[in-house]
Formats: sequence, C-alpha cells, structure tokens
Amino acid sequence: MNDPLISVVAPIYNEGDGVDRFLERVGEILAGAGLRHEFVLIDDGSTDDSWSRIAHHSRLDSRVRGMRLSRNFGKEAALLAGLEQASGDAVVVIDSDLQHPPAAIPAMVRRWQDGAHVVEAVKRNRTGQSLGNRLSSRVFNKAFTGLTKVDLVDATDFRLLGRPALDALLRMPEHSSFFRGTSSWIGFTRATVEIDIDHREGGASRWSVRGLCRLAVNGLTSFTSAPLHLVTMAGIGFALFSVVLGVQTLVRWVSGGSVAGFTTVILLLLVTGTFVLLGLGVIGEYLARIHEEVRGRPRYLVQERTVFSGPGEPAVP
Ligand code: UDP
Ligand code: MG
Repeated sequence: MNDPLISVVAPIYNEGDGVDRFLERVGEILAGAGLRHEFVLIDDGSTDDSWSRIAHHSRLDSRVRGMRLSRNFGKEAALLAGLEQASGDAVVVIDSDLQHPPAAIPAMVRRWQDGAHVVEAVKRNRTGQSLGNRLSSRVFNKAFTGLTKVDLVDATDFRLLGRPALDALLRMPEHSSFFRGTSSWIGFTRATVEIDIDHREGGASRWSVRGLCRLAVNGLTSFTSAPLHLVTMAGIGFALFSVVLGVQTLVRWVSGGSVAGFTTVILLLLVTGTFVLLGLGVIGEYLARIHEEVRGRPRYLVQERTVFSGPGEPAVP
C-alpha cells in the first residue's frame, strides 16, 4: 500500500472549542508526516456548540466528516458509530480532548506499515490523571486482566486498527460494547507504542462516577462469567461451613452442653443475607445484559450528518 488513507475516529461530547484545537493539532501532525487522512467526528449528543463547529469544519475541509447522534449514547456507542463510518485502510481511535498525544500517530502508523494489525498506545505515566482515577483504573485493569486473560494493564482507547482487524471488530454483534476489551479479544498481530497521558485541555472529564462504574460492570460481564462462578464457590463454601457448624452443634447437644449464642445467630444471618443478595445482584447484572441483547435495540441513533459520499468529495452541511 503506497499511500494509505488513515481515518481518525474521535468521539465528541461537549468539547466546544476543543474541537477546533483537536482538528488543528491532529491535522498538522498528520500532514507533517505526509499521511493521507480523514476525520470521522461523532458528536455524542453534545448540548453545546460542538456540532456546529464540526459542521463548520466539514464545510471548509472535505476530509472532515461528522455525525450527530440523537442523544448522549456514551463514548462506546459513539466510537462504534465512528468505526462503522471510517473508510480508511487503517483507523486511529483517539480522544478529542487531546489527552491522547496525537504526536504518537505517525509512530503507530509506522508499526502498522511494519506489519502489525493492531497498534495500542500504552501509558508510560499518567501525570494528567488524578490519583483516584489512576488507582481505580489500575485496580479495574488488573482485575479485568486476571479474570479474562484479555490484557488491559496500562491500556488506553488510543489504538490503531488495520482494515482486517477493524472488519473483524465490526462483526461482533454485542450491543453494549467495550472497545478496549473487544479490540484486544479479536487478536491479530499486535504492537505497542508508549505515550504519556496529558492533562485535559479545556473542561473536565466527561465521565461521571456512575458512568465509569457502568463501563466497568459492562466490560466485565461482557468478557467473563467468572463472577457467576465466584457466587457458586461462595455458595459451596457456605454449605461446607454450615455442615461443620451443624455437626459441632449436634455433638455439643448430645454431650449435654448448652447451645446458645444470640449474637452469633444474628451475625450469621447478616453474613449469609449479604452473600445471597450479592449473588442475586451478580446474576441480575448478567440477566440485565441478556435482556439488553435480546431486545436488540440499535446501539445509537443518528440525527444528522455532514453528507458526502466518500473521501475527497465536497462536504455539504
Ligand atoms: N465522550 C463521549 N461521550 C460521553 C463521554 C465522553 O463521546 O458520554 C468523549 C469525550 O468527548 C472525549 C472522550 O470521550 O473525547 C474521553 O472522555 P473524557 O476525557 O471525559 O474521559 P477521560 O479522559 O476522563 O477518561
Ligand atoms: Mg479525557
């Protein structure tokens, strides 16, 4: 491939003038590296002027394509929408807040040209992230990697996928997708590039704590049924414990000892109650996912897009 087309896919949620900065910075770097490229910008139901900025840029530059989702469907859905629209020989998925250093893109493209199908940017440091953020993402990534064998340690969403890998990814039918996981699960020859996570330029993180928890639960339930097995194991543990306790009590009763312990009874009730509820909760999470999948609703809805039929053609607002 002599002159490959690189699609840059970026989700945008209330980034405001960050959109201008993003396009300018990334455009400069790609042009500087002599890479033919297009932008696929997905407005994830922004309530600010992000969409009008995207539309403005796509009028000026036919390489900029935009799609506006009908509401905020979340970053994962926006990413998927972007990946489905990308027409390049390789796609680069990148955050639009410039926390993922675009300067790493040419290196990623080189790895791809050297034969890697998936190039992941891994974090060297995270000066741009808060301590709580760093800790929680470490714990989650470690737990995820331990439970699923899909390695997420130091992983980011900043990735390059070659066309075959992208087509494989798009064949996955799941509704609640988890890009970081699915893009690892597909396999293909991989390479990594080290990056430093920068401070966010403008605005604060668009993720709420609740949103992050949902993402974590979604990620886990879509990749492993280990929590269900844990519930089973806990159940077996409790059963064994009850047998031992029962036998001990029986022996004491037969040998004439008194069987007392109101506090113990209450404690045991509480502990078993907690485990039962937790177990139900875990099962419930899986049930909720099944429910979501069988309902089969579209993963996102498009309100409007900057129309044009392919790269290189003029954009119409
Ligand atoms: N984002 C999105 N929809 C959302 C939340 C975030 O499209 O509901 C986008 C956001 O515009 C940014 C990227 O996802 O380009 C990462 O979001 P953010 O910087 O808030 O996450 P963090 O860097 O804190 O993980
Ligand atoms: Mg960010």
